[in-house]
Amino acid sequence: MANESALSFLTSKLDSAIGWARKYSIFQYPFVTACCGMEYMATACSHYDIDRFGAGFPRFSPRQSDVLFVVGTISHKMAPVLKEIYDQMCEPKWVVAFGVCTCTGGFYDNYSTVQGIDTIIPVDIYIPGCPPRPENVLDGLMKLQDKIQHVKVA
Ligand code: SF4
Repeated sequence: MANESALSFLTSKLDSAIGWARKYSIFQYPFVTACCGMEYMATACSHYDIDRFGAGFPRFSPRQSDVLFVVGTISHKMAPVLKEIYDQMCEPKWVVAFGVCTCTGGFYDNYSTVQGIDTIIPVDIYIPGCPPRPENVLDGLMKLQDKIQHVKVA
C-alpha cells in the first residue's frame, strides 16, 4: 500500500515536471495564409515579447513542431495541405485557431472558404478577433500552456 502511494506520488510529480517543461518549450509551426499574419508577427516583437513564454522560436518543419498556429483564411483548396501538415506533426501536438477566419470562416461565408478549421483538424485554442490583438494572442497562449501542463504522461 505504501509502495502504491509512493508510486502515485512520483507519477503525479513526473506529470507536473514534464508538463512544466513542455509548456515553456513550445515549438510552433506558423501556417500563415492571410492578413492575420501581421498581428501574429507583432506578438513576437519586443513590446509583447512572446519569448517570455518559451514560444518565440518558430520551426518551419511540422516534424519539429508541437503547436500548429493556423493564421488566416483557409480555402477549400488549401484544406488538404493543412490536414497533411497536421498529420506530419508528432504527438503530443496542439492546434491554435488564430483569428475569426480560422475559427468560423469569418466574413467569408462563401463556397470557397472553410467555415472553421475544426471541420478539418481538432482545435485546442480559439483566438477570436479580426485580427486578434497581441494581448488576445498572449491570453490564448497562456490558456494553451495551462492545457499542456495538465496532460497526463505517466
Ligand atoms: S480574421 Fe480578419 S485579419 Fe485575420 S485573416 Fe481574417 S480577415 Fe484577415
